[in-house]
Amino acid sequence: MALIVHKYGGTSMGSTERIKNVAKRVAKWHAAGHKVAVVPSAMSGETNRLIGLAKEIQEQPDPRELDMIASTGEQVSVGLLSMALRALGLEAVSYAGWQVPIKTDNAYTKARIESIDDQRILADMNAGRVVIITGFQGVDPEGNITTLGRGGSDTSAVAVAAAIKADECLIYTDVDGVYTTDPRVEPNARRLDVVTFEEMLEMASLGSKILQIRSVEFAGKYKVKTRVLSSLTDPLMPLEEEMHSGTLITFEEDNTMEQAVISGIAFNRDEAKITLRGVPDKPGIAFQILGPISEANIDVDMIIQNTSLDGTTDFSFTVHRNEYKKALDVLNTVVQPNIHAKEISGDDKICKVSAVGIGMRSHVGIASLMFRSLSQEGINIQMISTSEIKISVVIDDKYMELAVRALHKAFDLEQV
Ligand code: ADP
Ligand code: ASP
Ligand code: MG
Repeated sequence: MALIVHKYGGTSMGSTERIKNVAKRVAKWHAAGHKVAVVPSAMSGETNRLIGLAKEIQEQPDPRELDMIASTGEQVSVGLLSMALRALGLEAVSYAGWQVPIKTDNAYTKARIESIDDQRILADMNAGRVVIITGFQGVDPEGNITTLGRGGSDTSAVAVAAAIKADECLIYTDVDGVYTTDPRVEPNARRLDVVTFEEMLEMASLGSKILQIRSVEFAGKYKVKTRVLSSLTDPLMPLEEEMHSGTLITFEEDNTMEQAVISGIAFNRDEAKITLRGVPDKPGIAFQILGPISEANIDVDMIIQNTSLDGTTDFSFTVHRNEYKKALDVLNTVVQPNIHAKEISGDDKICKVSAVGIGMRSHVGIASLMFRSLSQEGINIQMISTSEIKISVVIDDKYMELAVRALHKAFDLEQV
């Protein structure tokens, strides 16, 4: 008997029929003697619909009110799933984030979980009830509803698993595991049986939508055994088979000994690039530019600075597309009066493509192979950044799919 958390994404919860299937699967685990907590997302498309409604009223929706609206999709899901389980004769109880409570900071639309009270959850589970908790939402210190950022139900699930010290967190989704790249872009992508925590962290941080990055961070910090698997299989398939399906995130690097140098290609279309040209090249300039950006709570990803012979420097960085306009605004109103750049420009039609693999630590020539295959496709590289286990390039958005497929092939990641 184990303590298990299941997470079901939007597609898995996409219709009442699918929700009934989720209930059958959960009932199967329960009948086998496991204690199960379930964290569902909103039904697919619902969060987009809700945010769309908000934007019809306010182009830049007030973040507190936006969270009030966007969080409701998950509330519908927990209620429906609880009913579906009761219809099967199980005892089930649904909770919103604030009822648990899942406490977060007050950074609306991208709040961070600070603590989760395990008492109510464990008391219910010990009494034989299936506990169903809204993904994506929490409550701030003043009692306001917050949301955890898009894809945040993954994080809710892993955080709940960490809080109740679950034996395993199973992330059920619309693919049967983590692939070498998004199978929607490269149909020849290969499923990985295991992926190291570090590689998963890089892939998520570089834009792989399969798991929200913070969920991977939680898994690493609390050593939560996490598996990604399909919710679209027969819900009554043998438990033993289901338990070993999908992709396991492992904390042991030994497992990857036989894997390729590169384990995956990630891409991210959510960023925009901002460039300041002709900025005086003197101490403190990076701080003068990025200080106000950070004060405006805008996250910066890649940064490049190039000094020219005339004593000025060009400074480029990337931000999330949602914050692109806000960042340009801050630069023009707060930064420019102090630094007098010759030009401030931006481009939101960019994409970041990355190769990830812990094998990079012990192999040379990965970067040159990457640059060569991009050049063979005629793709210009605008920015480059590297870490011990990844290389990322920023390119024109229109070449994204071409670049992903070319790199997937160049690094021999295709199915055999
Ligand atoms: P859910 O609604 O279950 O949270 P998501 O849409 O958030 O599902 O994540 C699953 C999707 O992630 C898949 O349908 C797939 O298109 C995409 N994806 C991106 N990168 C990968 C990858 N490396 N492996 C598998 N799926 C990926
Ligand atoms: N429903 C939320 C979203 O669409 C959270 C999630 O699906 O994980 O982003
Ligand atoms: Mg998701």
